[in-house]
Amino acid sequence: MLRRTKILATLGPATDKPGVLEGMFAAGVDFVRMNFSHGSAEDHIKRANAVRELSLKTGRLVGILADLQGPKIRIARFKDTKVQLEEGQDFALDINLDPLAGDNTQVGITYEPLALEVRPGSRLLLDDGRIVLDVVNVENMRVNCTVIVGGDLSNNKGINLMGGGLSAAALTEKDKEDIKTIAVMKCDYVAISFPRCAEDLHEARRLLVAAGCNAGIVSKVERAEAIVPDVMDEIILASDAVMVARGDLGVEIGDANLPAVQKMLIKRTRELNRVAITATQMMESMIENPIPTRAEVFDVANAVYDGTDVIMLSAETASGKYPIKAIEAMHRVCIEAEKQPVVRVSTHRIDQQFDRVDESIAMSAMYLANHTKINGIAALTESGSTPLWMSRISSGIPIFAFSPHPETLGRVTLFRGVFPVLFKHDLTDHAEVNRAILAKLKMRKVAAEGDTFIITQGDLEGIAGGTNALKVITVGPTEAK
Ligand code: PGA
Ligand code: MN
Repeated sequence: MLRRTKILATLGPATDKPGVLEGMFAAGVDFVRMNFSHGSAEDHIKRANAVRELSLKTGRLVGILADLQGPKIRIARFKDTKVQLEEGQDFALDINLDPLAGDNTQVGITYEPLALEVRPGSRLLLDDGRIVLDVVNVENMRVNCTVIVGGDLSNNKGINLMGGGLSAAALTEKDKEDIKTIAVMKCDYVAISFPRCAEDLHEARRLLVAAGCNAGIVSKVERAEAIVPDVMDEIILASDAVMVARGDLGVEIGDANLPAVQKMLIKRTRELNRVAITATQMMESMIENPIPTRAEVFDVANAVYDGTDVIMLSAETASGKYPIKAIEAMHRVCIEAEKQPVVRVSTHRIDQQFDRVDESIAMSAMYLANHTKINGIAALTESGSTPLWMSRISSGIPIFAFSPHPETLGRVTLFRGVFPVLFKHDLTDHAEVNRAILAKLKMRKVAAEGDTFIITQGDLEGIAGGTNALKVITVGPTEAK
């Protein structure tokens, strides 16, 4: 059975070991993430090449997402690498302190405006919320705090402000340098970390285009200010895909607020015809263990019910002990979750008017698919728009995106329920094209004699936005191999 929800797995030292990438392909990984917060440019280029080679060898397209580090705000370093903080003690963050001279009363920071952006009573969360500090006052760019939750604190740990509001620009000098590497790697998507508003994403797109990179843009929603309603819509519309980045977002808005925000963000993203990714700690215990906890099984299934296109693995695959088993576990949970009727029906856009013919055809195909006996849809596509519109409608019917363009095929691989098929031909007769499409599907063993397929296409090849025809065809015995 075809899994509709896509699995995105982060590459790292654990996936560099012999045979692991092959095992991930066999387990059904759809996309890989290169995490630019770790590793050198050479590591990423080597891994990207390995993925491309294996895609060619196995005939299974696996897409590449490059994830920029962004302006993660960090403390500087300690004289002795780490300190222990006790609940109730004083601790200061000081921009003027020697960055190597931290001790258990104070530490330097790398983010100049911190003292201007906090107030007495502001709550700072360090190391993904493990350490909690409350600001007492600010004296000459020195932020004096009381420790609310103590523990070990080591060099360069991240700082988040509860409620958001730290306003570093989304693209750092390192990100701009990394964009050059990414352009060479030819990624399908680039993820922007900590965007504050749509303008951060427009700037990223300008820089990528200037570097010769046409990758889709993923915005990682991980700041409190990014989920303010109007800002959120603008961010979604400025992106091709949106990641519910639960790690940093949970620190900023509080973990208890995450489930509702995940549901709202996925729903809105789909309504605005964009792709949703659910990320972080989905199979966290599998970093150490070969099977997930029951809670993790439910988390993956619930993300499928929420309508996510993609589920992501981070340390589980990048540095965990069981990278292949983590993908297998996600796969089996998705397959069962996708059998539930609630994820197969849709009233989405049922009362809307459409301005465009191609969009209307895409919507009509889904109405037909969900209301009669149809085994699958084949959409001939230049840009990938038709399968994107189609896949915003919940359905159990697979959508095969036929395109001659590798870039388009890479993009559509992220869409829920959409499967890429490389299709180049020099046929001029529509009946012959349709026969060639059905033959391809038969060859892939996703169509059999007697099945009914919907085919959508335009009159002219090579024109984006030209889809103007929808045909329902029954697979016969004679389509050429
Ligand atoms: P990260 O982003 O893994 O790059 O931090 C995801 C998240 O914050 O959840
Ligand atoms: Mn993050």
